[in-house]
This record gives sequence, C-alpha cells and structure tokens, in this order.
Amino acid sequence: MKNNNVSDVCTVVLDTSAFIAGFDPFSSKRYNVTVPKVKEEIKRNSILLLRFEVAIDTGKIEVKTPFEKYKTKVKNIADKMGDLHLLSETDLDVLAVALELEIDGFKPQIVTDDYSIQNVASQMKIEFIPLTTRGIHKILEWIRYCPGCYKKFLSNYKLVSCSICGTKLKRKPKRKINHGKTCEKKKE
Ligand SMILES: [Zn+2]
Repeated sequence: MKNNNVSDVCTVVLDTSAFIAGFDPFSSKRYNVTVPKVKEEIKRNSILLLRFEVAIDTGKIEVKTPFEKYKTKVKNIADKMGDLHLLSETDLDVLAVALELEIDGFKPQIVTDDYSIQNVASQMKIEFIPLTTRGIHKILEWIRYCPGCYKKFLSNYKLVSCSICGTKLKRKPKRKINHGKTCEKKKE
C-alpha cells in the first residue's frame, strides 16, 4: 500500500475530529493514516464507523500503531510547549505517527481541529490542516514572540524563554497560507 516514491505522496494523519467533521477518505488521493485509538473513539458513532471500516478494508486508510520512542519525543516537545496536559493519549498517538512518517521521509499533514495538536505539530515542523465547516483550506502558521521585549522568534526556536531578556515566550498566528501547493513540493 505504501508508495515507494515517498516524496511524491502527500500523507495525511487523521485524528477523530477529522472524521467527525466529515473527512471523506474516498475522495482523498493521499496516503491516509490514523491510529488505533481513533478507531476506538469512532466506534461510538455507528455511521462514522461503517465508512471508516470500509475505508480500512479497501486500503484507503492505514491504521498505524505509534512507536514508544516517538511518543516519548512528542511528549517532551508538548511538555516544553505547555500543551502536554491538554493532549489525550489519542492526540499523542496521532502526533507520534506523524513524527515517524516525517522522519521516514513522508510529507505528512495532520488533519485536526484540535488546537494543542496543531500547536505541537507546528513546533515539530509538521503541517496541519484544520477541518473547519469550510473544509480543508488553510494552514495556520505560528510565530513565537517575547511578551517582555517583543523580539520575534521562528516557530521552531528551541528554547522556551527569550534569549534577550529571559521572559517565557508566547505564540500567535503569523499568517494564513493556502496549503494548496504544499503537497507537490518535494521533500529534499
Ligand atoms: Zn525578551
């Protein structure tokens, strides 16, 4: 099922909110991945479950169990970001699978409406797609800034505090960009 030429395939990692918001795996030409815990959460909704199970049976979705080492890495990042207590085990699994795919050379995007998943994903330089009522259109880009001296930092800046004055950094959306072409971009 995996495409050997990974750089040509855009991978989407789906959390439960993606399915609830109506993500249709059959209309997606991408490599769709989710985690076992999402399946457990979807089991509570019989209509969603039917479509979900057909998608798995026909190879439209792969259910991937995350490795502990990636989960640990995600937890460390989330902890530094102050988001760890906001993330469920399912959320951490989604992020861990996305991180693994990214490391394996896929270009993944996480489909989620969860703010904390989005935040940690952006810290890991993994794109995310919020599924609003309008559908998949925008990716929110983050910028980190110091509320003390207003110095701006890139979203992947490693430290939690300002390098100038030591104040704990905050984040805000930088700008909304259309993600339409990101899938075609090759990962070098
Ligand atoms: Zn500062």
